[in-house]
Amino acid sequence: MGAPGAGKGTQSKTLVDSLSIIQISTGDILRSAVEGESSLGLEAKAYLTAGNLVPDEIVIKIIEERIILDDCKKGFILDGFPRTREQAVALDEILKKNNMSLNSVVFIDVPEKELITRLLKRAEIENRPDDNLLVIKNRLEVFKKKIEGLLGYYKEKNLLKFVDGTGNSPEVNSRIVRALGI
Ligand code: AMP
Repeated sequence: MGAPGAGKGTQSKTLVDSLSIIQISTGDILRSAVEGESSLGLEAKAYLTAGNLVPDEIVIKIIEERIILDDCKKGFILDGFPRTREQAVALDEILKKNNMSLNSVVFIDVPEKELITRLLKRAEIENRPDDNLLVIKNRLEVFKKKIEGLLGYYKEKNLLKFVDGTGNSPEVNSRIVRALGI
């Protein structure tokens, strides 16, 4: 978990390479659905463009259908899910139903000023439709509204690892590896 621009995608990709497991990014799944103009994409498009959260039931269904596939058997990293307490509760139910459980929850912590700088830079490089200043600010607000509830949920379960997300990507990766004890 982490704010937009905290490095969730980058760090997940590094970890899946070293652990030989897969990454499930609800953001990537939704973006490719929007690009492919599937019915999911058409439903999700307005939320992504505005930087708002897609309704819980839609993302929960994506996860429910994804984690039962064969390539998840060895384990997976969820990137960008859950983002609300309701999603976290649903995730617990889905995992239980499939005899799975979470090993750890990593929160990548980056100060807001740096997040905005990173996101604006990414806007130039990747041309993501939701990386312009107005939408970025909205995404950060949406994140702030939900994060306390989520952190509380996982703190209670003793799963939460807080990692300093400043500095370069290999530095953050070693902090995560240390926090996870892998
Ligand atoms: P991300 O790439 O993780 O920053 O996600 C990009 C966008 O996809 C978000 O701004 C939301 O509109 C949507 N999205 C991704 N994951 C979720 C989620 N777990 N719940 C609701 N919306 C999501």
